[in-house]
This record gives sequence, C-alpha cells and structure tokens, in this order.
Amino acid sequence: MSRTEPTKTDSTPEKRPPVNFSDARGPSASETEVGSVFVSNYPPFSAWQADALPEYEDVIEQAPERASELGLYLHIPFCRKRCKFCYFRVYIDRNADQIQHYLDSLAREVEIYSRKPAVADRPLKFVYFGGGTPSYVAVKHMKQLWNRVRAAIPWDDVEEVTFECEPGTLTESKVHTYREMGVTRLSLGIENFDDAILRENGRAHETKEIHRCLPWIREASFDQLNVDLIAGMVGETWETWKDTLEKTIDVDPDSVTIYQMELPFNTVYSQGILKDGEPVKVADWETKRAWNEYAIDRLCEVGYEVSSAYTLVKSSGKAAGEGRFVYRDALWHGADMLGTGIASFGHMQGVHIQNVASWNDYLDSLAEGRLPWGRAYKTSAEDLLTRELILQMKLGNLDLQPFREKYGVDPLDRFFGAFETLEGEGMLRIRDRRHVELSRPGLLRVDSLLSNFYAERYQNARYT
Ligand code: SF4
Repeated sequence: MSRTEPTKTDSTPEKRPPVNFSDARGPSASETEVGSVFVSNYPPFSAWQADALPEYEDVIEQAPERASELGLYLHIPFCRKRCKFCYFRVYIDRNADQIQHYLDSLAREVEIYSRKPAVADRPLKFVYFGGGTPSYVAVKHMKQLWNRVRAAIPWDDVEEVTFECEPGTLTESKVHTYREMGVTRLSLGIENFDDAILRENGRAHETKEIHRCLPWIREASFDQLNVDLIAGMVGETWETWKDTLEKTIDVDPDSVTIYQMELPFNTVYSQGILKDGEPVKVADWETKRAWNEYAIDRLCEVGYEVSSAYTLVKSSGKAAGEGRFVYRDALWHGADMLGTGIASFGHMQGVHIQNVASWNDYLDSLAEGRLPWGRAYKTSAEDLLTRELILQMKLGNLDLQPFREKYGVDPLDRFFGAFETLEGEGMLRIRDRRHVELSRPGLLRVDSLLSNFYAERYQNARYT
C-alpha cells in the first residue's frame, strides 16, 4: 500500500534543535488515538453524497472547457494477508477466477470512460497501479489488463507509471513484465527490516523476500525505485528503527517514503482497542515524530533531500531536481483523475467522485455497462482553493502567487486566522507575503494542522 502522497519541493525546512531521544516518550507525549487520519482530499469524504452523482455525470458527458492534466488510477484490491494497521478496501480470500472477473471489470470501466466526451482524445499524463497489492496479480492477468487499458486510452506519452509492490509477491518474470508495461516508478512496500515486527503487524512478507527481489529490480533499472517505510509499527524500538534506516540506505532507493503509523477506525488494531479494550500498542506521536525526524536527518546525511512531509529523494542522480512524482504533483495541483476500481476516488472538472465500495455492486454495475459510481461532491472555487492549499502544505513549502492568479484570492487574507495561529505556534513561517515554509515540527505533524484551513462546517466532520 501507499497512500496518495502528492509532490516534491526544492526547499529543506528549517531544522529544530536535536531531539533528546530518551525523553521522546515522556509524560506529556500524546497517545496515538483511534480515529487519526491521513488527509488525502478535501472536503472530507463524509460530505460526498449519492445525490450529487448527476453533477458528475454532467461533467463526464461534456468535453472539458479547459484542457487540464489527466491521470488514471487503477485499484487492485488484493493482498496475501491483511496487515493489522490496514484501513484500505482489500480482499485476501479471492481465487484466480474472482480476480480475473474483477480485472475484466476494471478494464471495462476504463473502456467505458474512454468513450466519454470528458475523456476521449485527452492524453494521459500519469498512470498509477495502487492497492491493495498490484504485484499480487499473476503476470498473465496483469498483461491482459494492461493490453485492454492501453488499447482504450493510449499511454505512449505518459510521463510516469507507478506500480506498487509487496516484496513477497514478486517474481523475476513479474518484474520484467512491469518494465515491459512501461512502469517508470516501482514502489516497494518494505515498511520495516525486522522480521518480528513485520510478523507482529501482520505483514505478509519477510526480510528474506526483500533481499530476494532486489537484484531483479536493480537489473530492470526502473527510472525510480521508491521504498515505503512506516515509523511506529507495533514492536518498534530505537534500535530496530535505526537498523531499518541503515538497511534502507543499503538498498539505495531513489526515494524513501515514510508514514507515521495511524489508527483509523477500521484497522485490526483499532477494533481490538475499541471492542476488546486492548491497550494501545502503537507508539505515541512524539516518539513517532522523533523516529521520523531521525530518518530525515540520517537520509539527508547520506545524500537525500526533503521532498515533502513523507518523502525524501536523492539529491543527485536520476530522481534529482526533476519533480519525479508526477502523480502527486498533478493531483495536488488540481489535475483530473479517473479513479477506477472498487471504492476508488477521482476528480473531473470540479467534481469529486468515489466508486461503490461493495464487491458485488462494483461487478454488477460494470456487467450492466454502468460506471460504478457511489457518491460525488461538486466543489466550489473555495473548496478547490482549500484543497490545493492544504495538499500542497504537505510539501513543506508553498508559493502563494499561483493561488492568487488561479483563484483571484489572497490565501493570506482568506486564511488569515489559520496562518496566524500556526505561525504563532512555530509550525510555519511566511516570507515576503509570498512563501509559506513549514518548520520541521510543522512538517512532522502536517496532517494534524490542516483542519485549521477547513470551512467551519467541516471542522468537526467525520473524515470518511
Ligand atoms: S499490503 Fe497490507 S497495508 Fe497494504 S493494502 Fe495490503 S493489507 Fe493493506
């Protein structure tokens, strides 16, 4: 898995004084609470409604007035095992026939979209195979999907094709297939290099499987190899985290993405806490931030630079200075995206859309030739301004001038209270009324700051 993690920035946020590691779990440390979320969109999903589906239909049935960038997300919701911290729509019990049926439906969804006026003749800028575990799918089935999708929407000019992998599902032949499919960015969900921690957290892979697949990946020479890590898996200690960092550095990826462990409501861990009264075993936020900060500092020491709140990229080499995470950049700057697959979300010409979240509803809709829409939201200019602003805040550095030009509003005036509060708390700094720079403390807790910018009616709204 990898959450939608938009763009890179050229600046390195200011450093804060070194953390006293022994104090990282102090009495004032804040517990990781059930219900914490990673912000990937705005307004919150709970505001999206089936009533708004006609608005989405309207934009899909019209050629767009302005030619914005277009991307395609393909959701592959299968995994070998359910990680105990996972909150995604995934299936671990589907057989080969069911998987084939799903992939046929997914291809069909793309084919139907490709004939719609809003999509026809528009070049794709990026493609993202996410999950779930796209690498779970057999070579034969993946090739069939790819052939049908690229026949429907030509992607020869696509700038980036990302493919998410779980190490234990990879084979040499799969890796070669991804190269043949034009994958440019392979994202490897390593998460941790300690087998006991991987097991405790319900991960399907072990470290020997990481080492087994790396030579195949290196030989295939993708434009970019990204490694995902999670700071704060259950059982993590300073020793294991530092060891994971050193082993990640040995892998020598082009980028490293680090998430802090959260507890949304529907994870195995959260349910254990809520239903069975189990103690919270996830490290508190101060500790996770300290681990994350250590990782940032250590990776910067060996030649990486901060690209966003979550991602570091090599400051020299293939990934340097090229804004390589096209998916993230495009999405966070307001691109259109077809979100295909069960429960996927997308955006077209000002309207958000999410597909149905039920297996049968998804397959039945497509069997009847209907796009499997579940709920939508027609944004206002103010919603779009807020959405782009909060998502780009995650870069750690924000240029306000493009917002003034695009929306005719000065964000410093519109969000005066939020900026003033966060600047007062040392979370960010405003330079020349043009640039917003998050401090290191601000960057490490950016998701928790974003609701300051929400419209009042969404301040306390449920996220999903
Ligand atoms: S690999 Fe684990 S975290 Fe990722 S989607 Fe599958 S179950 Fe969820």
